[in-house]
Amino acid sequence: MNDWIKLSIPHLAGNENRYASDAIESTWIVPLGPYVDRFEYELEQRLGAPHVVALSSGTAAIHLGLDMLGVKPGDEVICQSLTFAASANPIVYLGGRPVFVDSEPSTWNMSPRALERAIEDRIKVTGRKPCAIVVVELYGMPAMLDEILEVAGRYDIPVLEDSAEAIGSKYDGRSCGTLGRYGVLSFNGNKMITTSGGGALICPDADSEARVKFLSTQARENKPYYYHEVIGYNYRLSNVSAAVGCGQIEALDDRIARRRAIHDMYARAWKDSDLISVHNNPSLKYNSNFWLTTIALSDKCKPSPDELRMALLDLKIESRLIWRPMHMQPVYESAPYYGDGVSERIFDRGLCLPSSTTLSDDDVMKVIDAINAALA
Ligand SMILES: *Cc1c(COP(=O)(O)O)cnc(C)c1O
Repeated sequence: MNDWIKLSIPHLAGNENRYASDAIESTWIVPLGPYVDRFEYELEQRLGAPHVVALSSGTAAIHLGLDMLGVKPGDEVICQSLTFAASANPIVYLGGRPVFVDSEPSTWNMSPRALERAIEDRIKVTGRKPCAIVVVELYGMPAMLDEILEVAGRYDIPVLEDSAEAIGSKYDGRSCGTLGRYGVLSFNGNKMITTSGGGALICPDADSEARVKFLSTQARENKPYYYHEVIGYNYRLSNVSAAVGCGQIEALDDRIARRRAIHDMYARAWKDSDLISVHNNPSLKYNSNFWLTTIALSDKCKPSPDELRMALLDLKIESRLIWRPMHMQPVYESAPYYGDGVSERIFDRGLCLPSSTTLSDDDVMKVIDAINAALA
């Protein structure tokens, strides 16, 4: 696989082996331990967020975050449609009903106007306002958070920020994941940094942090025997995984710098193109980590994104279509949807380009040349 140019692969920083061996050799081959505390501390320092809980996956973090927001059977939860299924599935785990909302073109994330339309209409149809809002920061790009939080605040609906792809991204100088009531990170294998599998929930205060730690370790009450008053989960990150995370986070700034440099190379290559636009939000408020560089093909472009993807595959270059919106998924066919075709169009014309930090400048040039050749 070495000669392949891959979309996004793990990149070892140096100390992962040492820390993980240390975790294995110590008696801490049980969930929880000193590396979990240290990883949480490092995340808190890095993000400027004092209450981070390390969990077994980003999906688990969304599940617990929505549980903390009080989502119960029958409750409606608004979710960005253009996203990975893991943003929405935990709504269903809790017996809730997802209501999907379209994106807007400047960030590809939730449209504040469609959000307001959805809230108004759900109140009209059901007599109740939705219980929570899941906003996603796709491919690392912050959402229009001022506008979204203004709408959410007006109706007093809490926001869960799915920043699984956006660790290190900033919105108006603040770390993504810290702007909603709860924030979610993922350390899956293809994300910006990885613990091979893992996630974190950013909590608003010490009480909610303690509650999330309690719920994620089977909700055992403080008694000499096992005693349970509520349903818990086995969602804590293991000490060995956290040790890998401690190694990875040491390189986070370098990784973000490299992803941004790769994005800049693509952006420079097509800045005057009428066939390809490299997705970005020019406002300085929106500071993406560019986890993946994404492009949109104009209507003039002959090959479709999928044809382009296959042409690249022949050259051992991996690219990927944009997330297929949730309202276009068979499993969510019957869920309400509020939109104007923006996410459909992004799905129709978009493509994610190789953005692994292990790629050399020559690799990136090879991708650019291959795309130019395929479009010629
Ligand atoms: C990866 C991802 C998740 C889920 O994270 P896991 O750690 O894989 O469970 C959730 N939302 C988005 C937008 C993601 O990209």
